Amino acid sequence: MKNLSERIKEIREAIKDAEYIIIGAGAGLSTAAGLEYGGQRFIDNFSDYISKYQMTDMYTAGFYPFETLEEKWGYWSKHIYINDVGAEGTRLYEKLHELVKDKQYFVITTNVDNQFTKSGFPSNKVYATQGSYNYFQCSKACHDSLYKNTGIIKEMVDNIDEELKIPGDMVPYCPKCGEPLDTNLRKDSYFVEDVYWHKQKEAYQKFLNEAKNHKTVLLEFGVGFNTPAIIRFPFESMTEKMPEWTLVRFNLEYLQVAVKVNGNWKLVPFDLLGNYSLPNDFNKRYIPVSEDIETVVDELLK
Ligand SMILES: [Zn+2]
Repeated sequence: MKNLSERIKEIREAIKDAEYIIIGAGAGLSTAAGLEYGGQRFIDNFSDYISKYQMTDMYTAGFYPFETLEEKWGYWSKHIYINDVGAEGTRLYEKLHELVKDKQYFVITTNVDNQFTKSGFPSNKVYATQGSYNYFQCSKACHDSLYKNTGIIKEMVDNIDEELKIPGDMVPYCPKCGEPLDTNLRKDSYFVEDVYWHKQKEAYQKFLNEAKNHKTVLLEFGVGFNTPAIIRFPFESMTEKMPEWTLVRFNLEYLQVAVKVNGNWKLVPFDLLGNYSLPNDFNKRYIPVSEDIETVVDELLK
């Protein structure tokens, strides 16, 4: 791997030359922005819950099988509040906006915390594939409307009792079928993709089409292997196909690339990529960054 200052120079030049920028963001970006789901931030906010439920971090806590809806919302309202409803935009996301704002750009993200739109990105340039903390939907997806939950989430958090429950009369139910409402997150087959979600999906696909034969930089931040088929693998395969595209992958741990070897997919570490013949000299158009995102973004902004 080239040294960091050489890679920063390459990224800076690629962005300068680019007609289009595509940002792909996963959980690692919000972690880098300070919205960590584990560690001290989790302990500071959830010590009672850790004692009661033996939770280890907010990611796994999201799968906890609460026995009652009062308990479920006693946890979830707080989770949603600290990660979205009660959280402001962060400097790192604002800096990313600074970096791309004079270009034609589009964002695809699996993050559900609305950090992009809170930090200066217009919502019509953001496709949040996995939903939003800030909306409720019918848990049985009986209809495809979403319900903004800002007010009710605040009210729930203010009313969590010493057993970590909300009052029964605050539990939200679907106005159409009477089943419980749930957060609009893709976690089961009942995820609601509303009209706006479809509109943004189309806008993203249109943007990809427009960028096809133009100089384009894909900036991928903190995308791991929870849902690699949404951003990570398509970013690789699109860049392989388009000789004018450059992929910059920011990832503390996972800089591998999926390569097809004798009909089977294999994850190849960056340093071994040169041993494979990848389409259109992909190796030369892939810039890996394992260093701290904000440090590098600060350099790019200089
Ligand atoms: Zn319903």
